[in-house]
Formats: sequence, C-alpha cells, structure tokens
Amino acid sequence: MRAVVFTGVGEPLRVEELELEAPKAGEVKIELVGAGVCHSDLHVYKGDWKHKTPLVLGHEGAGVVTAVGTGVTRPALGDHVILSWMPPCGACRWCASGKPQLCATSMSAIGTDMLFDGTTRLARADGSPVYHYLSSAVFAEQAVVPAAGAITIRDDAPLDKVSIIGCAVATGFGAVVNTAQMEWGSSVAVIGCGAVGLSAIQGARLRAATRIVAVDVVPGKLEAARAFGATDVVNSAETDPVEAVRELTGGVDYAFECIGLAETCEQAAAMLAFGGTAVIVGQPKAGTRPGYDALLLSCYEQRVIGSNYGSMRPTVDFPHLVDLCMDGRLMIDELITGHRPLAEAQDAFEDLIAGRAIRTVLDCGR
Ligand SMILES: [Zn+2]
Ligand SMILES: [Zn+2]
Repeated sequence: MRAVVFTGVGEPLRVEELELEAPKAGEVKIELVGAGVCHSDLHVYKGDWKHKTPLVLGHEGAGVVTAVGTGVTRPALGDHVILSWMPPCGACRWCASGKPQLCATSMSAIGTDMLFDGTTRLARADGSPVYHYLSSAVFAEQAVVPAAGAITIRDDAPLDKVSIIGCAVATGFGAVVNTAQMEWGSSVAVIGCGAVGLSAIQGARLRAATRIVAVDVVPGKLEAARAFGATDVVNSAETDPVEAVRELTGGVDYAFECIGLAETCEQAAAMLAFGGTAVIVGQPKAGTRPGYDALLLSCYEQRVIGSNYGSMRPTVDFPHLVDLCMDGRLMIDELITGHRPLAEAQDAFEDLIAGRAIRTVLDCGR
C-alpha cells in the first residue's frame, strides 16, 4: 500500500509503496478515506519533536474496518471509524479513573513510534521497519491501529470530512467543554484561529459564552472566526492583544491558547479576569517556558492549566461530535480549505506553514 514517508528534517516527503502486516491481537486494519494535516505533523517535519525514521505521518483520520485481530470485540468488520491518536489501554490508573487522554500505555507508545507490543506493522520491501506516528500513521491508504483507537460512528457521515474530528475538532472543542468545563455566560478569548482555535470558538458558542474574542495575525482567519461564532476579533499584529481583550471585556473568564508559543501562553494568563483560567491547548515546541507573575495568580485566584486532546473520551465524545456535525450545529465543512491526494502531502505542509490553509484533507484512496 502507498503511504507518505518522513525520512528526516529537510528531506522532502515522498509517497512510498510499503508492506502492511495483518493486525495482531487487539488490533484492527482500516481502509482510510481521509486524513487531516495537523500542526503536530508539521512539528515532526520541522524537527521540533524527535521521532524515529522512516516514519509514516498523520494522526487525524477516518475510514472503514477491513480486518480485525484476535480478541477484538469492537469495532466490527465494516464499521465506519474515526481514529483516536490516544488509544486507551483501559487498564491503567488514568483510564480506570475516566481520563483516557492521559493513558500511561498510550503515552509511552507515542514515544516509541510503535504499536502497544513494541513492534511495527509497517515495513519497506526489503523488510526494514517503518514507524507509526502517534499509533495511527494515517497519511496512507491503510493503517493497522490498536482497536481501542478506532471509534465506531454512524455510517451516514462523510468520512473524508469527519476525519478532522479525530484531532482538530476534538482538541479545540474538548478544551472548552471537557477540560475547562466552561460555565455558560462566561467571557472567552481564543488565541490562534486555526482549525483547533476555530473549534474552541464553536465549543464556546455552543456552551453559550456571552463574549468570544478571537485573536490572530491573519485577517482571513479572523474573518473565519466571526463566522464560527466570535463576537469580537483582535489582530495581534496591529494591536497589543492583552490590552485589546481587557478593553473589550474587562478581562476574560477563560483564555484558550491554541498556538503553543511562550509569548501567547503569557498573553493568555495576562488577559484573565479575577478567578479566570488560561488553558494551554496548543502543542509547544519541547522546552517552551512561559513566565507568569505568580503573585497575580495567587492574589486573583487565576489558573493556568493544560489540555491534552481536549480531555477527550473518544468512545463517547466522537459519536456526539459527529451528531452535532450532521445536525449542522458544529461546522466542519468550513474548517476544510482543501483536499489533496497523498502525493501532494508536501504541498499541504507548505500551505499550513504559509497560513494559506485552515485544514487540508488528504484523500487516502487511490
Ligand atoms: Zn490506559
Ligand atoms: Zn493533531
């Protein structure tokens, strides 16, 4: 089968013909339909995060189950699925306490670029191993993944579009409704209006925030933010975003940082009202260290918290998100700014770097 292979920083992404082994115990094979191109893939491509090579990138995908390994009771053959890049083991302390986004088994598998048993199902024709990015490796025609990472959804949902629920939508929407558990009537700022930020704006809108201030440097993204539910927009290339947000709102109850830069993490904390919460949603480069005035945090009872994968419980949350999309309450068509074949993955990355794309979906089929 064909897949997009990352071989090293500065080297072009190429489509290669790879061998994909059959699923082993507890795994399933997916015929992929669509895969979204996310900033986390870009981090690897740019060398911000270290991973093994050769590596099949992609972690936001959807498709149909075409084979199941031994012992798999769910999903079933033929199920339509969205992939989760944090497949819960179901047994660790965090899984058992309802926090699959912190699954210890999954966290360590992510670091190895292999599946749970410490091996890969991907190889080149000469038998040499190829690694799986985030237990998913979806920039490919097919993937073998842990069964717990393939979440069954209704079969009338368009798989190319709902693929982006698997990271962007889950991460942004979940940060608001799951991680922050934002109360209705809150005032909100969202810094960074890519696919994750726009999904956070939608979460805030559906959670009845009274004020939603979108912050970005790209005018087109601020325009999109208004369409997704922002009540106000601030172009931080032209004006100090902290001053602007404070002037508009007097300080916000929640600030969602959806970029992952030290400066914007600091801005999120600095624009809070008394008792406010800054949520770090963006995935920073390793070693990013923002600074806070600890006295202000303690005096005003402000919090800075992290959100991994929108604190998703994919098994229950993905089908709900699909329902919201199918009912027209959650906009996903508008997040997808283009489709490209697998062979144009490199161009999709360039679009993301240049700020030309919100989300590009790679069409995985031949
Ligand atoms: Zn676990
Ligand atoms: Zn992602």
